[in-house]
Amino acid sequence: MRSVATGPRVLLRRLREVMAESLGAQQRLDKIVKHIAANMVAEVCSVYVLRADGVLELFATEGLNPGAVHEASLKIGQGLVGTIAATARALNLDNAREHPAFAYLPETGEEIFNSFLGVPILRSGRVLGVLVVQNQAKRLYADDEVEALETTAMVLAELIAAGELEGLNKQGTGLDLSRPVQIDGAALAEGIGLGYIVLHEPRVVVTNLFNEDVDSEIVRLREALGRLRISIDDLLDRREIASDGEHREVLEAYRMFANDRGWVRRMEEAIANGLTAEAAVEKVQSDNRARMMRQQDPYLRERLHDFEDLAFRLLRELVGKPHGPIAESISGDYIVVARNMGAAELLDYSRENLRGLVLEEGAPTSHVVIVARALGIPVVGQAHNILSLAESGKAIIVDGDDGLAHLRPAPDVETAYAEKVRFRARRQAAYDQLRALPSCTVDGVDVELMMNAGLAMDLPQLDQSGAAGIGLFRTELQFMVASRFPRPSEQEELYRATLAAAGDRDVTFRTLDIGGDKVLPYGNVIQEENPALGWRAIRLSIDRPGLIRMQIRALLKAGAGRKLKVMLPMVTEVREVRKVKEIVAREVAVLERFGHAMPSRFELGSMIEVPALLWQLDELMQEVDFVSVGSNDLFQFIMASDRGNPRIATRFDPLSRSFLRVLRRIAVKAGQYQRSLTLCGELAGKPLAAMALIGLGYRSLSMSSSSIGPVKAMLRQLDARQLAEKLLPAIEEPIGGQTMRELLIDFADSHGIHY
Ligand code: PEP
Ligand code: MG
Repeated sequence: MRSVATGPRVLLRRLREVMAESLGAQQRLDKIVKHIAANMVAEVCSVYVLRADGVLELFATEGLNPGAVHEASLKIGQGLVGTIAATARALNLDNAREHPAFAYLPETGEEIFNSFLGVPILRSGRVLGVLVVQNQAKRLYADDEVEALETTAMVLAELIAAGELEGLNKQGTGLDLSRPVQIDGAALAEGIGLGYIVLHEPRVVVTNLFNEDVDSEIVRLREALGRLRISIDDLLDRREIASDGEHREVLEAYRMFANDRGWVRRMEEAIANGLTAEAAVEKVQSDNRARMMRQQDPYLRERLHDFEDLAFRLLRELVGKPHGPIAESISGDYIVVARNMGAAELLDYSRENLRGLVLEEGAPTSHVVIVARALGIPVVGQAHNILSLAESGKAIIVDGDDGLAHLRPAPDVETAYAEKVRFRARRQAAYDQLRALPSCTVDGVDVELMMNAGLAMDLPQLDQSGAAGIGLFRTELQFMVASRFPRPSEQEELYRATLAAAGDRDVTFRTLDIGGDKVLPYGNVIQEENPALGWRAIRLSIDRPGLIRMQIRALLKAGAGRKLKVMLPMVTEVREVRKVKEIVAREVAVLERFGHAMPSRFELGSMIEVPALLWQLDELMQEVDFVSVGSNDLFQFIMASDRGNPRIATRFDPLSRSFLRVLRRIAVKAGQYQRSLTLCGELAGKPLAAMALIGLGYRSLSMSSSSIGPVKAMLRQLDARQLAEKLLPAIEEPIGGQTMRELLIDFADSHGIHY
């Protein structure tokens, strides 16, 4: 039994005094280990700090050979100390030498000590070092001793994070915390951004670790928990989210955790050991995060994420910080780092100096990514663990081309990227020069280059990119970034503004393509096993015609007196087009009855993105005014290969013989019926693929505005006839490699075409 004078609270009080003294870093650390050893009645107390080179160096010891300080070291995973660092878990052993990982360090003289207790020094779930106590007598340390040592480790974590120990080690290797880190994620939106980190959910910085009085801190914690529970219940009771599946599920999980006895007990224990309520929340949260990082099961990981969110909320309850981004206090170039966020939240940040976005989660089709792309902001997603590693205000580089995030980049990396940014700017300036030049091949074939859009913020790009018009206006984007259904007047306003921005250039509005992966944050979420093959787009419009009617009406009103082009997504059968024609006719009749002016010309078109249409092309061409290939979906359905799944993202090539045959077949049919044909999937924006499409007979392509320059540069060097002569026979050949990519690259290289 330990006496009161040696309890954890006394220890923390001592440590507070040591922290307040004006001492050198080494002296302070030496004093700390002395106090811990005395307080825990241990013969040894040692601190190992993780260096940037992945080595744990002995920084201070009481009880081991003092000559070993800054000499003895272990790699991560090596010995007991290395094992604790690798697993972020405590080790409590009554006979250390029997443990399979035991490694004997002769310089320390530790061979006489049998019992061993080591805990990771954690900060936001990240291991910064290891704290160890040892005794000669064989014994297992009690649970409260483990808890006390973990609490003490938190003090050391603060010391390391404050940078105080930097420079103490002999080799001059920096500490792990300041090490440059490269995180390999997914490239979600192209571009390079350099700046300083802004955490979307700013960490509440706990400055006061040590409590004055346990009871009053417990009361503070309980009161904050009470307020937290009430706020969650309030959210759950609100009518508007009552039916919203996913959102509700998360809140239910919050409620469950907020009442979790284990969680509350662990926080109260930490307070009993001498921490303030907020430090206790942070300690338990850090332990949880370390656990989460070890967790493989995605469902459990998700739940632990929820737990973490809850801890953030609780911290805010305790320190009273407002929720959300602190956009107004940001100056200079910055990069937002978040686990995930909604599109509308990104729009809350001031655009001026926002240079990039890094998400711990995020998928190519998530709304925030779509919006970031529209804004030209580079995005890296699936940046594993970025939230543990990123510190507010530290330098970061986002490489949205290769899917990399560089934290605290080394000077040479920074220089290389700064050069890359300058190179891109020069290239962009060269594309700008092309803006006024005709988009015409060497042999005089005109190719119409249009841009894809969907939000008001896209419209300035029309003039900046020199696009010939908007080949695909994704009307669902307005719905996806809103927090409620856009009113008919708001829809009409956007369509009107779009037509005004386009002037005499064509705009093709696509009717709502929601459902599947395009979920509205406020709509009812319908769980489907295969949402991409589910109740979406035109299917939903036909079954619930209220929405499409409202939309058609808004379009007809906005297009009064001018040409209006409307296109239908995910058409599978020609009768779906006929059905929409009836809806349009009805809306026209209603509006005319009320004296509204009508568009001077109305054209209805169909996307070709469902393979079944390939066997109805004759009927389809007779039913519509124009067609547009949605290569993103058509490719995923032809190849049975999910467009959002990174595992198979590069498995099949859109430039494969089979897919090019499909695309050629559509071009031939459109020509036969003299229907205008566009391709508006991502393929159109890649110069080599765009070259192939021109070879296949496509004369109109719609792409993101940033691709127009590179594609135009390519086609102004291309002889379309020569390419067709080579490509068209090649795709019909029964033998040879599957992909036509090499053939296309050879052609481009031998004709001096940049792609
Ligand atoms: C497509 O599928 O290629 C397309 C353009 O539509 P979306 O990407 O919006 O599904
Ligand atoms: Mg599509």
